[in-house]
Formats: sequence, structure tokens, C-alpha cells
Amino acid sequence: MNPFQYKNGVLHCEDVNVPSLAEEFGTPLWVYSRAKLIHEFRAIQEAFAPVNPVVCYSVKANSNLSILKVLNSEGCSFDVVSGGELFRVKAAGADTTRVAFAGVGKTDEEIRFALENDILMFNVESEPELDAISRVAAEMGRVAPVALRLNPDIDGKTHAKTTTGRKGNKFGMDIERHDQLADKVLADPHLNLRGIHLHIGSPINTVEPYEQAAQKAVEVVRQLRAKGHETNWVNLGGGFGLNYRANEASSAADYAKGIMPYIQKAECRLALEPGRCIAGNAGILLSRVIYVKHEGGKRFVIQDAAMNDLVRPAMYDSFHKIWPVEPSVGFPESFESEIEGCSPADIVGPVCESGDYLAKARPFPEVVKGDLLATFSAGAYGTVMSSNYNSRCRGAEILVDGDSYSLIRRRETYEDLVAAER
Ligand SMILES: *Cc1c(COP(=O)(O)O)cnc(C)c1O
Repeated sequence: MNPFQYKNGVLHCEDVNVPSLAEEFGTPLWVYSRAKLIHEFRAIQEAFAPVNPVVCYSVKANSNLSILKVLNSEGCSFDVVSGGELFRVKAAGADTTRVAFAGVGKTDEEIRFALENDILMFNVESEPELDAISRVAAEMGRVAPVALRLNPDIDGKTHAKTTTGRKGNKFGMDIERHDQLADKVLADPHLNLRGIHLHIGSPINTVEPYEQAAQKAVEVVRQLRAKGHETNWVNLGGGFGLNYRANEASSAADYAKGIMPYIQKAECRLALEPGRCIAGNAGILLSRVIYVKHEGGKRFVIQDAAMNDLVRPAMYDSFHKIWPVEPSVGFPESFESEIEGCSPADIVGPVCESGDYLAKARPFPEVVKGDLLATFSAGAYGTVMSSNYNSRCRGAEILVDGDSYSLIRRRETYEDLVAAER
């Protein structure tokens, strides 16, 4: 299901004409499809239905309140990595008793805030964190639900900056130590061991690393149960792939087929924390060409979206499809080879960094000042990683639903840039 289609040569989001949105709200502009968010959430929910999973949308992928509200209305749960994200989940009106809380550096304040809100479980990433949770819970006269985040030493074969499950990453605790850690929890009246958590990285396009993770997870659960723990939950984290280029990611059904047999056999509850695969292809970033310049034997398309808006290409060398909104050349079947009617261009932003580009040496049609461009697969890790670098105002966000749309975050103004400063 792709909500972004060219109709009569003009890009639409669902039934809304994209140039009209740029006209009304300016650029850069983020445009999301409500139907796509729901479609992708349901695909996971349905694929894993035989094990009745708790699907915790990873708030950090796209934390806009309206997006959280859409997913909440579908019965989605949430995975947070900070007190701020928990605040957002509450502000969206969601039930916090199904929230998982991960992150290597939870502060006492964040732990207290989470306990006050009766979250489902803390994904505990270190022994000192276990001590901190126990201490805060004791102060509050509470018992804290915890899952041990174990590092399974599995290679998810993804970018060095987004692999999290190898030995030596900062995340989780070495899997060999589960026994010792579990003993510690068992001896502590303020901690309750709900289960174990593994998150191996992102995006993981293949199923096999999840099979390995599920296998290791249920083996640990089996050993913990043998010691008398009532350990039910296996949380396999997020990281399901996204089709940025073509069909490189496995489907929800593929992941489910690989993972579920382990969960069923061990009679565990399954939690998942998908973010990217729900929000990623539900959003685009719209920009407008400011100049086209030819220097050093190259063509530079300078447009008004920059690394402060979408940092992924600069940060991870990520690939995003980019194409004009009213193109002179039809949307290509494949971006992997030469495209007829195109010549290479660097698509860059106005920020004063050579790393500020959205694409390099990309086959691209002729464009001129004022043309609109769409950067696809921008719904996840777009706005959430954006900044005001170079004192650039962030663009508005629009949520499309059929032939209607609403402004879900207004464009920033110059006044916003200095509002918190003295
Ligand atoms: C980032 C993260 C996720 C979500 O990853 P996606 O690739 O967006 O699915 C899930 N769980 C944890 C602990 C994370 O850090």
C-alpha cells in the first residue's frame, strides 16, 4: 500500500494534491498519510495475532502527538526512551500501563515518573540502573516491573551507528550474566522480573537475526523459570526493515513466521517495539528548489530542506528516494540503474556543511527554481532528529486522511528560535 501516487502527473498523498499543501503551508513541509500508519500497524498486529502480541510503537521514530493519537486509537501500545516521550504518550491520552521504557541512562526523576504512571516494564540496561530502580521503588513503597535487556551478541548486519546487539555496544547487559542478574532481582523485594528484552538494531531487513534472538530469549526464559521466576515476557524490540529503495525489507508476515514458533513453544507473552516500519513510509518531506548551479563539473540542486530537517543521509549515508512533485520524467521503476532523461545531481540544502545533502550523484531530471521535490520514506527519524542548526525554522507537519488534511505542527517562526533564551 503506497499512499503517495502520481495522478495526472502530480504527486498526491491519499486524495490530496501535494502542491496545494506546499502552497498553503510553505516548505519544507512534512506530509503524512493516516491510512498508511494504520495499515502498517495492523499488518504487524495481524501477522503476530496467533501469539496475541503487545505492539509498542517506538515513540522515538516519530513522536508527533497526532501520530501517537492515531496509533492509540488503533489499540497500539508505546515504547519510550525518555521521560519526555512518556509525557507525550500521556498527552496523547494513551494508557501508560502498557508502556515499555528503554534507554541506557534513565535518571531517578524519569524512573519515578514512570513508576507513578504504572508502566508495563522497564527494559533495564545495566546493574547500576537495577539498583536505582530498586531504590526509587523502595522510596515510593512500590515494586517495579523490570525486564533485563540482554545483549545477545547477534550481528544484525546494519549500519555501525544503528547496530545495538553486538558485544561492546553500549546497550543491555551481556547475555551470559542473566543468571547472576536474575538472582539479584529475585532477592530484591522492590523488583519483579517480568521478562527479558533484546533489541538488536535497525533496520534489520532479514528474519534470521530475529530467529536467533528469539531462540536465545526463550532459552534464557526457560532457565529463569527453572529457578523459580515467573518470567513471561519476551520483548524482541524493534528494527523491522523498511523499503527505502525497493523491496529490500522482509514483510511483517515473514518476521512473524520466523519468530512465533519460539514464543509459542515457550508459552511466552511477546512484546514488539516497531517504529520505523510503521511511520517510515507514511511520510514525505517536501521542499522547493532555490537554485540550480553547475560548478566543478557537477550539477547541484539547492533546495530548502537541509540536514537540520532530515539528518539521515549525513549521519548514516542513508538512501531516500527523491523526485519532483510534478516531474518531466515519470517516476522510475528502479533507482538502482540509469534513468532515461536524467543526469546526475547532488541534491543539497542551504546549511553551511559539506555533509548537508539529501542525495549525491543521483540520476535526476531537469528542475528549475520553484519546483517542488518530495523526499520519500521520511516519516520515521525525520522530524524527531531535526534541529534549528543555522537558525533554520522547522517546517510544518500535515496529516492527510482521505481527501482532508490537518495541520499537526505549525511552522516555526523566528520568534520561536529565541523564545527560550535570555
Ligand atoms: C529505536 C528502538 C526501537 C525502534 O526501532 P525501529 O527501527 O524504529 O523499529 C525499538 N526499541 C528500542 C529499545 C529502540 O532503541
